[in-house]
Amino acid sequence: MKICLLPGDGIGPEVVRQAVRVLEATAAKHAFSVETSEALIGGAAIDAKGEPLPQETIDACQASDSVLLGAVGGPKWDNVDRSIRPEVGLLGIRKAMGLFANLRPASLFPELAADCLLREDIRSKGLDVLVVRELTGGIYFGEPKGREVRDGERVAYNTMVYSESEIRRIAKVAFEAARKRRGRVCSVDKANVLDVSMLWREVVTETHKDYADVELSYLYVDNASMQLVRDPSQFDVLLTGNLFGDILSDEAAVITGSIGMLPSASLGAGRPGLYEPVHGSAPDIAGQNKANPLATILSAAMMLRHDFDMQDAAQNIERAVGETLAQGLRTGDLMRGQTGLKLASCSEMGDAVVANIAKN
Ligand code: NAD
Repeated sequence: MKICLLPGDGIGPEVVRQAVRVLEATAAKHAFSVETSEALIGGAAIDAKGEPLPQETIDACQASDSVLLGAVGGPKWDNVDRSIRPEVGLLGIRKAMGLFANLRPASLFPELAADCLLREDIRSKGLDVLVVRELTGGIYFGEPKGREVRDGERVAYNTMVYSESEIRRIAKVAFEAARKRRGRVCSVDKANVLDVSMLWREVVTETHKDYADVELSYLYVDNASMQLVRDPSQFDVLLTGNLFGDILSDEAAVITGSIGMLPSASLGAGRPGLYEPVHGSAPDIAGQNKANPLATILSAAMMLRHDFDMQDAAQNIERAVGETLAQGLRTGDLMRGQTGLKLASCSEMGDAVVANIAKN
């Protein structure tokens, strides 16, 4: 498999390096081979090429089977022109690759239960939710949008618009993902108020006819956000539009308490998908070998699952991460003053995951 690496800025290169080691160890174990190439994005690309997403980076991604990204941005580029900010590179590559579906699992490793922000009686019921968010439509992109003066006062507006084809393709992603999990989809909308949500619900219901083995339910977004903290164990896959998913995926993520643990996948109609940790470039610890590489390592597991349909290899990585935590190894972000834990560097964490893969 040909994988294009976009290490990016800050801790990006450090965490990507460990994820590549883990992929190579998994390849050796599961008899496949990995060939990597590297391309520039974000601040690193601005420094080298004067723009955050050079055309050769887009070409390299499109020529690969899958893409693994670290993170972009940092104070060094805070004052560059808005049109070439590092984040423009990130939005640009998602657009260029046609990535319309964002998958963000939020789950709790039992070893990290103390980090979870929920009460013990709630978290003990389990927390393993996958948010499937539509990424290229809805109110963030709808037209008309703008700002003007009406009757002597400032007015601004955006449009929330979805076509049935956009809804159908993201609903399919959610149903397919549920088949590989616990077989339940909850579609989130505001169909009691918004016309666009009424269409959303209609098309999700129609699409469900091809997925009768998957259980479908619906929630209004305000209720969904409450239920997510009241009892997240009721959810398997949450299917949402762009705006609602932006908010709910952060909510689902933060209740696990560990930003250094959260992977994500952005998928289009076929390969390549783009896999990246949820966290940013962490400039405060960059270059110090202190970053937690597990979110990126778990993103590599998502890559094997979604781009290559290698369930066993993906599970092997996830199990190796769990074992590493069970061995008491923690990077600084996961240290909360508990006893019996060993402070590990980014590379030591990678060493441990690699060793656990080899012995599994
Ligand atoms: P951040 O996620 O980079 O950092 C927030 C805090 O979490 C920091 O204290 C950091 O040290 C810690 N942290 C994050 N990831 C960690 C890891 N793997 N291991 C240990 N600690 C970790 O968010 P921020 O500080 O708001 O943003 C910093 C830069 O990253 C900004 O330039 C921002 O624009 C960019 N950013 C990029 C992405 C992306 O590339 N997808 C996402 C968010 C922020």
